[in-house]
Amino acid sequence: MAGGPLSHLTVAVLGGDRREAEVIRELLGLGAAVVTAGRELAPDPEGARRAALAAEALQSAAAVLGPMPGVGEDGRVWAPMAARPPLYLTGPDLARLEPGALVLVGRANAHLRGLEREGAIGLVELADDDEMAILNSVPTAEGALQLAMELSPLTIHGSTSAVLGMGRTGLTLARLLAALGSRTLALARKAADRARAFALGHEPLPFSQLAAIAGRLDFLFNTVPAPVVGRGILASLPDAAVVIDLASAPGGVDFAAATDLGRTAVLAPGLPGKVAPVSAGRLLAGVVTRHLAEYSGEGGVGEWSSREGALVSP
Ligand code: NAP
Repeated sequence: MAGGPLSHLTVAVLGGDRREAEVIRELLGLGAAVVTAGRELAPDPEGARRAALAAEALQSAAAVLGPMPGVGEDGRVWAPMAARPPLYLTGPDLARLEPGALVLVGRANAHLRGLEREGAIGLVELADDDEMAILNSVPTAEGALQLAMELSPLTIHGSTSAVLGMGRTGLTLARLLAALGSRTLALARKAADRARAFALGHEPLPFSQLAAIAGRLDFLFNTVPAPVVGRGILASLPDAAVVIDLASAPGGVDFAAATDLGRTAVLAPGLPGKVAPVSAGRLLAGVVTRHLAEYSGEGGVGEWSSREGALVSP
């Protein structure tokens, strides 16, 4: 869109998957110029320009979008759609950016954080962004249910489930389980989180009760990134129980013990990009464009609710 609210911006998009295709579409629609690298196997929207290397894409870019899984300490960019992996983002590459350029990425490395501290770039780590995490909890929870249905011989309806952790993902998942007719036990260490779970109609419990209820669980979902499901809990579960660990690697379940005990237990990382890349991409697009609009002083851009919600006109 010529003359759109982001028409003064060139955004470099490095690596990523189908989610970023939705972001590119949105950026182009708002008038931004988009240059991509490491996405040759993806059908990017018409209007985006492809660069052979990250360095070329960064040349005179005012903003950079990296993938949700992030950039490794060695500068390697997660790029499953690159024709010639690996894709690297190095110090000399970053030196090509416009001064004060904004870098948005799921998880940054120490070099990017150092550049931010020096004031050379602005940095948004989307994995820490509350808005992003709450929105992402929707495809994550749906993906967890999909896995649960595939792995269990039981219906969710009429089952007993426990959700460990009442944070952003846990709350959304508990809501979906209850909506499908599962008796939902909500475990949280904070009394206020248990109160919230109670108010939403779940059965709140402290973690000290997990061992006592394990023998009644058909589904155990973990969202706590700490070792909370050990051998004793796993041994107490019914044989047909399914354990799904959503927490970031290495998760919170003792998988070696689960294998010893013959339990069905899976670590399920990256569900939004796997189960609903287009929806997850649209949510990501809203968050990214809002950050870019704030960065460039444009109001009213990136308010995802006005696009997703149809009841509110932008
Ligand atoms: P969150 O909002 O921070 O929720 C995490 C919950 O775990 C909080 O309620 C926290 O309680 C609790 N917790 C942390 N350490 C604990 C401990 N030692 N004992 C008991 N409770 C503890 O995070 P989130 O956004 O829901 O994400 C949860 C996890 O899922 C993260 O590891 C995230 O990276 C991952 N994730 C995975 C996917 C996927 O596709 N699998 C998608 C999104 C997120 P307190 O407030 O008391 O600390």
